[in-house]
Amino acid sequence: MSHEARDILRLYGKLRERVPEEVTEQQLLKALQYTIRTLQFNDLDYPLECTRCGRCCTTSGHITITEPELSAIKHYLKENGIKKRLHVIRDQDTVSFNGIPCPLYDVSIKGCLAYPVRPQVCRDFPREHLRRRAHRTEWPIVSFCNAADELVLQQTLRNLEQPFFSTVHR
Ligand code: SF4
Ligand code: SF4
Repeated sequence: MSHEARDILRLYGKLRERVPEEVTEQQLLKALQYTIRTLQFNDLDYPLECTRCGRCCTTSGHITITEPELSAIKHYLKENGIKKRLHVIRDQDTVSFNGIPCPLYDVSIKGCLAYPVRPQVCRDFPREHLRRRAHRTEWPIVSFCNAADELVLQQTLRNLEQPFFSTVHR
């Protein structure tokens, strides 16, 4: 089974538990597909239900940051007496942390050592990640992230309430 099919199955299972029985399997699948196709056009302004599983910090390599963000992080670590060696890669005008997990992830606190000054890309995850990938017509679903699933589910529930969806897609 493809990872896309696995994502759809997982999301369908979570959605099924939240909608009345009279909504058919076909309607739910269409609603999910519609949501995924149009993710880039939505604000996804729902509360972030992050479980703090840490997977976004421990499974992604090359967290891309800006030079000012790097300076702020170094300053923060120094100010707080946190000794941490940061491996960064510079490539033309981008800077990224090197390594998986991210060098700022600390297992003992299950979180980021520089959380208050974490880079924008981390603050935007998973909302912007979903939208950017959809914009590039890549498969946008983040299979390891519960918060990303929740955003997709909330948007699907919102779509299901739209009159245009019930008339056009049923
Ligand atoms: S944003 Fe997602 S992957 Fe990251 S800690 Fe929260 S639930 Fe886990
Ligand atoms: S900078 Fe912090 S929030 Fe961002 S990936 Fe690294 S540990 Fe996670």
